Amino acid sequence: AKRNGRNRYELFRVEMDEAARKRRDIELDLRDAITGKQLRLYYQPITDSDHNDITGYEALMRWNHPVNGLIMPMDFIPIAEETGLIHSIGAFALYEACQEAASWVGEQTIAVNLSPVQFKNSALISFIETALEESGLAPHRLEVEVTESVLLENNHSNVSTLEKIKALGVRIALDDFGTGYSSLSYLRSFPFDKIKIDKSFINDMHESREALAIIRAITGMSRSMDIQITAEGVETGEQFRRLKEEGCSLFQGYFFGRPQPSETRLMGFSPIDPS
Ligand code: C2E
Ligand code: CA
Ligand code: CA
Ligand code: CA
Repeated sequence: AKRNGRNRYELFRVEMDEAARKRRDIELDLRDAITGKQLRLYYQPITDSDHNDITGYEALMRWNHPVNGLIMPMDFIPIAEETGLIHSIGAFALYEACQEAASWVGEQTIAVNLSPVQFKNSALISFIETALEESGLAPHRLEVEVTESVLLENNHSNVSTLEKIKALGVRIALDDFGTGYSSLSYLRSFPFDKIKIDKSFINDMHESREALAIIRAITGMSRSMDIQITAEGVETGEQFRRLKEEGCSLFQGYFFGRPQPSETRLMGFSPIDPS
């Protein structure tokens, strides 16, 4: 038993070493990725069912690693946050997304994710201002997406940063709503323009009465609060139809289109009759 325990410990140690090595490799490579133009934004459409149109896009980061190929954000954003690299990556995303949207023929909005770590940087507001100025993008076409953790940590200072961003004319969305520590009181601490219902609720809505009840509560509340709602992670026509019944009109998900690089960005919306 003792030997067994030792072996298990050894195995654990080897795995830890491996994880640490992998993490360090990613960190080192990530520094090159920024300067080597390996980071790219993909654009996923947000569809407005009232107008049968794409009203905007969310910019989602991809890392095109020279050896390992395409790396998804969950495999490098957390490391970027721990190492502080998120500041330059986040600034890149803001500049790139604004440039891209300014080049579009239409007036669609562009949503950019902000990490809570970026709020620690006092230059965040001037990054956003510069991105708007250099691209010439009208501020109302930029939307930043934050998660409730922004309101959890360092609440006072982050709320004041959000207020300054809003004062630029930029819209602010509360992402992944309903997960984590979500509480309705967050909606009192800051006047969000939009709430994005987390995809886990959309995923469960057909099996779980609770998920549906929460979706109902959010859409009901948004009607009386003048907050827009986007349903995330809509994958099926059935989910789309049901969400429309619940009063949702903004949708994002594979059913409407996957994130795509600029060249192949999905442009038309062919409405599918939900009836
Ligand atoms: P998020 O902000 O919640 O973004 C939505 C995620 O859901 C994206 O994953 C998107 O590809 C995925 N998604 C969209 N529609 C569907 C669907 O119908 N089904 C399913 N299963 N998934 C769908 P992605 O691109 O892997 O990004 C993951 C997370 O990484 C994002 O979650 C966001 O938190 C973070 N992220 C991505 N880009 C950036 C960035 O530029 N900056 C920061 N700070 N975070 C980013
Ligand atoms: Ca988001
Ligand atoms: Ca989300
Ligand atoms: Ca998320």
